[in-house]
Amino acid sequence: MNLSSPSASSHPLARFGWDEGWEAEFSPYAVQGLVPGRVVRVDRGLCDVATPDGVVRADTEFVVPRDPMKVVCTGDWAAVDPEGSTPRYVRTLLPRRTAFVRSTSSKRSEGQVLATNIDHVVICVSLAVELDYARIERFLALAMSCSTGEALLRKAADPWESGAQPVVVLTKADLVPDPATLAHLVQDVETAAPGVPVLPVSALSAEGFDVLSAVVSGGTTVLLGQSGAGKSTLANALLGEDVMDVRATRDVDGKGRHTTTTRNLLPLPGGGVLIDTPGLRGVGLWDAGDGVGQVFAEIEELAAGCRFHDCAHESEPGCAVRAALDAGRLPGRRLESYRKLLRENQRIAARTDARLRAEMRREWKRRGAQGRAAMEAKRGRLR
Ligand code: GDP
Ligand code: ZN
Repeated sequence: MNLSSPSASSHPLARFGWDEGWEAEFSPYAVQGLVPGRVVRVDRGLCDVATPDGVVRADTEFVVPRDPMKVVCTGDWAAVDPEGSTPRYVRTLLPRRTAFVRSTSSKRSEGQVLATNIDHVVICVSLAVELDYARIERFLALAMSCSTGEALLRKAADPWESGAQPVVVLTKADLVPDPATLAHLVQDVETAAPGVPVLPVSALSAEGFDVLSAVVSGGTTVLLGQSGAGKSTLANALLGEDVMDVRATRDVDGKGRHTTTTRNLLPLPGGGVLIDTPGLRGVGLWDAGDGVGQVFAEIEELAAGCRFHDCAHESEPGCAVRAALDAGRLPGRRLESYRKLLRENQRIAARTDARLRAEMRREWKRRGAQGRAAMEAKRGRLR
């Protein structure tokens, strides 16, 4: 299939990632008079879908499955009613190429889909602090789960071949001015994750930025990383001047904090698409906490108003949860059980991670051996 065919690349949805593959998947629905679109935001039974007629609001009533893994998610490609129908319904979802799933610790649920049809998982690691290889592994494990879901532990096939590609971005490279030191750090991370590209990038000096832009220009990207790793800065830099058009700014606490992201899926001016959802931002922090989130929806809702997106609601300034507690709008008992459940989930997540890490170490060893064999073969040919 020729992915650069003029019909797909000149399509109004091309900047949202439309290609010949999607066109082919969609053709039976086109015959029915339905319109293709990509889900840019989901909330409570409704979603915003980017279509050739612009972004439309659509009801997801017809695609509500029993399986939480199949609910409409940011990144999905959908067939929606044509213009004129009110309300417009999502009639079907096109099969997902990849899905970024956060596994839950709960026995009852399989997991929660955070984003779909992801091509690149960019793991942001700050050079401002000492490198934590275990944490990088943890995020790589998450990135791997993007292509395979829970299958990593079950199937033997190379999960990086067909699914989303992980990239480690060492952010704030300007803080390591000595090139030799920087090269060492890059090498160390490369050793920890063979086969994964490692890019030093600075949003300040723009170092490495052209390479990163090129990497993300061909597909859909999510940014992962610890709070403070530089994800927002990188996202803003990638979004460039378009940022003000697509992101609404709402002044909540008088400090001009950006709080509302009207769309969670944003076309990049240099090509490619960025998915940035609150759920993705929390990954790695509240790892297995999504079941908790459903049970304590009102607390999670309050938490969206906290000044820091990783607020622990302990003693942070601008904490909306504590404010509600102090104002008597949130029972203290509720917050206590929420915290208790989160702690339990974190313990379980840590155990799961240990298993994933062991699995990945084996994979890396295999890849390392393959890489060495390939190198030897090359040298042999050169001799
Ligand atoms: P996030 O929590 O991952 O979204 O991280 P932010 O994007 O908010 O960045 C955290 C801090 O790192 C902020 O104070 C940024 O100004 C700083 N920062 C981000 N990128 C760079 C960079 O390239 N160089 C330097 N020196 N600081 C950076
Ligand atoms: Zn808080």
